[in-house]
Amino acid sequence: MPPKPLIAGNWKMNGLTADVREIGTLAQALKDGAGCDVAVFPPLTLAAAAREKAGGLLWIGAQDCHTKESGAHTGDISAAMLADMGLQGVIVGHSERRQDHGERDSDVRLKALAAHRAGLCAIICVGETRAEREAGQAEAVVLGQLAASVPESAVPGNTVIAYEPVWAIGTGLTPTQDDIAAMHGTLRRALTDRFGPAAADMRLLYGGSVKPANAAEILPITDVDGALVGGASLRAEDFLGIIRAYD
Ligand code: PGA
Repeated sequence: MPPKPLIAGNWKMNGLTADVREIGTLAQALKDGAGCDVAVFPPLTLAAAAREKAGGLLWIGAQDCHTKESGAHTGDISAAMLADMGLQGVIVGHSERRQDHGERDSDVRLKALAAHRAGLCAIICVGETRAEREAGQAEAVVLGQLAASVPESAVPGNTVIAYEPVWAIGTGLTPTQDDIAAMHGTLRRALTDRFGPAAADMRLLYGGSVKPANAAEILPITDVDGALVGGASLRAEDFLGIIRAYD
């Protein structure tokens, strides 16, 4: 059986106090259950309030963490601190962190390790740029990122892989269903080579311009175990439109 799907919302640098009500609306709608797990990664400023509103019906996580547990790192937050505030997961290696902050695979791997040490689930992101896809290198790039970003401590319970083609993020563009199926199949095989049969239970999310209008086409693709959603996760109504594709 494929793993229970996960629909995860990445709010990025969006949201002020009033927007936490969206989490309340989600929790209310999830009271009667859903065909998938649901997570929201708000900015850290809202995480405590979001957690309270979530009432255990969805997980709340963070968008980044440091590689170390504590120390002289002004402005940084450790995975241990995220766990201490009751968060359940952390996104690591999002392409915006890789681009804006120069994060390399080796940094992403250390962050995922830190998340695992703290008892958090690491959502590890990989994905090729448009130039890499056009050059026929998409698979090689993504496999390279996967090998170097996923630490040996990864098991299905503490790791989710998100395939997010950089050119599909926030653009309204998505790969074809065949291209998504091919990349997810490639990722599953690589994880199976490395982790054995347990890899069948590791969730592989697709991310990049997932919306209520295309969720029903993307989510049923083989080896797609959910989605990492940016823009369409900011309003509960849109996000629920994606979650309900699993009803
Ligand atoms: P998008 O972002 O859904 O707005 O394209 C996805 C992401 O960056 O996780």
